[in-house]
Amino acid sequence: MFEGVAGQARVKRVLERALREDRLSHAYLFAGPEGLGKLDLARELAVALVTSCAGCGACDECERARRGLHPDLAVIEAEGDQIRIEQIDALVADLSLRPFSAARRVWVIPECERLSYINDAAANKLLKSLEEPPAHVHFLLVSDRVERVKPTIVSRCQVIDLAPISEAEVAEHLARVHGVSGDEAATLARLARGSVDRAARLAADARGPRRREQYLVQAARLVGGPAGGPAGGDGQTRRPGPAFIALLEAETAAVGEEVAARAAAEVAATEQAFSDKRERERRVKAVEARAKREQLRRRRLAALDALDLLASWLRDLLALSCGAPATILNVDRRASLEESALAAPEVYRRLLGIIAATRGDLYLNIDQKLALQAMMVRFEEVTGA
Ligand SMILES: [Zn+2]
Repeated sequence: MFEGVAGQARVKRVLERALREDRLSHAYLFAGPEGLGKLDLARELAVALVTSCAGCGACDECERARRGLHPDLAVIEAEGDQIRIEQIDALVADLSLRPFSAARRVWVIPECERLSYINDAAANKLLKSLEEPPAHVHFLLVSDRVERVKPTIVSRCQVIDLAPISEAEVAEHLARVHGVSGDEAATLARLARGSVDRAARLAADARGPRRREQYLVQAARLVGGPAGGPAGGDGQTRRPGPAFIALLEAETAAVGEEVAARAAAEVAATEQAFSDKRERERRVKAVEARAKREQLRRRRLAALDALDLLASWLRDLLALSCGAPATILNVDRRASLEESALAAPEVYRRLLGIIAATRGDLYLNIDQKLALQAMMVRFEEVTGA
């Protein structure tokens, strides 16, 4: 049932056994840093709990549950910055209802640290539900930042701490789920730094637009090395800073279209799946709100990934300039790295510091393009380009 989730063999075993023996806790909190597949685990467990096949993963019912179309499976997502009191009220009101078609009802709450912002009245209702839920109810909470989750919530859940995933496990997952293998899988697994989500994005890129190559070409130009390969269109005549930003702008636009198209399909499916008008409208609104948040999140992720690629290139040049070639990340681009004109290690450390600061800016409400343009100006100050 957890085939699509990388690594985490121990946690999978524990959950599968508890499910088989019908001894699942009524409230779990999946905790650990981002990108470990926590939400995937919670979602797969939820699917197993509400489907008659117990989550075979291959049937229609599983597929519909995964797509959020099962009436006994609800995902409570933050609206804006918080999970609102109305959402908790609706949840509490729903609790006493018998399941529609399954034996159980399941609530998945991603980013449950956002429950910290709800007021005490709402928190108390939720806490009471967490403490003494009806027998058919299960809560699956997820958080990247468990230190921010209210202690009163943590103490009522069975906490499942997920460990970072090893490079070998990420590579194996890439081969099995994403069809990437050999050197490429090894490189992407190394670049993913323990995050399956990042690995999945890198794999999708390797299969499709291959933006990583283009970013690295501009990265090489930015720090004074040879171009390292052909760039498309005006890539070579444009200055590398603007060219790098233009790549990101194109990626952001493509991501926006992709999210919008998926949301449209989901709205259509939702409209077909629910005959009750109120329920249908509520679900469609939720799909649209989620799409909007998803666009913002993916836009930021694209920028963070682009910065990470640039940083990986600089880290590799730093490794070479320090005489530590064994530690390079972009192993599939070794030749190109070794052709680069090397600067002093100090130069790369300063540039990496500028990237780290820019990463932080992207989490604030700063215009993404402006943040990157400012970064390029500071780059030029360091490299004297
Ligand atoms: Zn199934």
